Amino acid sequence: MRSVHIAIIGAGFSGLGMAIRLKQASIDDFVLVERADDIGGTWRDNSYPGCAVDVQSHLYSYSFAPNPDWSQVYAPNTEIWDYIKRVSAEHDVNRHVLLNTELRGGTWDDAAARWRLSTSNGDIAARFVVSAMGPLSNPSIPDIPGLDRFTGTVFHSARWDHDHDLTGERVGVIGTGSSAAQFVPEIQPRVGRLTLFQRTPHWTFPRMNRRITGLERAAYRRSPALQRLVRARQYYYRELIGTLLQRPRIVEAVARLRLRTQVRDRELRAKLTPDYRIGCKRVIVTDDFHPALTRPNVDVVAEKITEVTPDGVLTSDGVEYELDTLILGTGFEVMPVADPLRGRDGDTLTERWRDGRSAYLGTTVAEFPNYFMLVGPNTATGHTSVLLYAEPQIEYVTQAIQHAARHDVAAVEVRQEAQDVYNADVRARLRDTVWLTGGCDSWYLDEPSGSSVLWPGHTGRFQRALARFDHENYVLRRAQDDVAEP
Ligand code: NAP
Repeated sequence: MRSVHIAIIGAGFSGLGMAIRLKQASIDDFVLVERADDIGGTWRDNSYPGCAVDVQSHLYSYSFAPNPDWSQVYAPNTEIWDYIKRVSAEHDVNRHVLLNTELRGGTWDDAAARWRLSTSNGDIAARFVVSAMGPLSNPSIPDIPGLDRFTGTVFHSARWDHDHDLTGERVGVIGTGSSAAQFVPEIQPRVGRLTLFQRTPHWTFPRMNRRITGLERAAYRRSPALQRLVRARQYYYRELIGTLLQRPRIVEAVARLRLRTQVRDRELRAKLTPDYRIGCKRVIVTDDFHPALTRPNVDVVAEKITEVTPDGVLTSDGVEYELDTLILGTGFEVMPVADPLRGRDGDTLTERWRDGRSAYLGTTVAEFPNYFMLVGPNTATGHTSVLLYAEPQIEYVTQAIQHAARHDVAAVEVRQEAQDVYNADVRARLRDTVWLTGGCDSWYLDEPSGSSVLWPGHTGRFQRALARFDHENYVLRRAQDDVAEP
């Protein structure tokens, strides 16, 4: 059995960020367990045509590793993946990564104050586990009758089949979320016919992407302060949007006007007009999605899908759409956190969370000593960069691990009452948000707790809450003694 101080699960943006921060803190005894054959997480998995970030790249990057060379305001996936790999190599974390290694299970050994992990490549004992599995890493395959009987080609947007040529084909797309909104305009010109199956229309925001000029890039290289200024402007712009989305009438009027200019056909526009408040579902940042749907080779079908037949898709009005290829833009299973792990009482997190997901500061869970989550419950964001939430968590976890080392602490476990008080406050602040009151269903919502996905409030509030490891809210157990509170 391999023994390490820290095991990080997942080598995506947040897991690698954690590894880099540990290096900076001169902590070298850790591994990153990664099930795939390369690092990069979502930016390795999502390679569909048109895949790009929908938060400005200067903001969607590590604060400690600004990239003056982003080619566009919204960088494409390949550039982001290259960035992640370059920064990881520069900080010498790659030698810690165990590729093709899937976490299969794990239990907390209370006597030894260690996690015993089993992976597809052998067992690992770790004092601390940091779960960085990504809230949207596992594709969601819809439960539509007959999907397995379709005789054409089927793939999910996050597992794009690049060997399959769509040219001239009859292509069906299920889903109208952020992913579909990016690949539909890319494939529309080359397919024969595109049928978009829409369950719910989405509101959109302007993207206004543009090339970042050589002059700008040279200026950023020469003056990091200038780039920090641009990042700060983008940060506050996004916070303003986040605030406006909670009082959506004005933003909604503008979005409605925009739809009117982009889609002149009344019937199509009616289909594409949401009947819920803007911001309730994640707003799609796009300039070309709706225009693409006005092209003569595109049909938008708003009838409910009843089944997939061997030849295509059948809708509730009895129409069968014959297809060569069906692309599932159907999103992801939300937050597939370390289900294989069993805490002190033997339960998995899923079992503990029967009444709703909850964690302290989205990071720690009672009965799960020495276990930290990055982008855990109520740490996601619909309006800005997720890294603005992951980085404070990374810092918090680093401080916790350093605190344990300084005070000879073997086990760190959040107090249940601290977790409960914190979550009661989060739930109370969620109550009046547009996500719960805006009249839609979305992956933000999970009954019965309302939403355990999003952070309600300004990003700064979350960052301040995690600025210091608050050991007083934890039970700290010394190596030999029982409970100690340094
Ligand atoms: P999504 O937003 O969850 O959208 C999934 C789509 O599939 C929705 O339109 C949904 O309809 C539809 N759908 C799901 N199951 C269905 C079924 N059984 N029958 C018919 N329709 C069904 O997924 P996504 O577009 O992949 O985006 C997920 C998240 O990933 C985004 O919200 C965003 O956070 C992130 N993302 C980011 C970027 C970026 O930064 N560039 C790009 C893509 C994605 P309903 O709306 O009715 O549920």
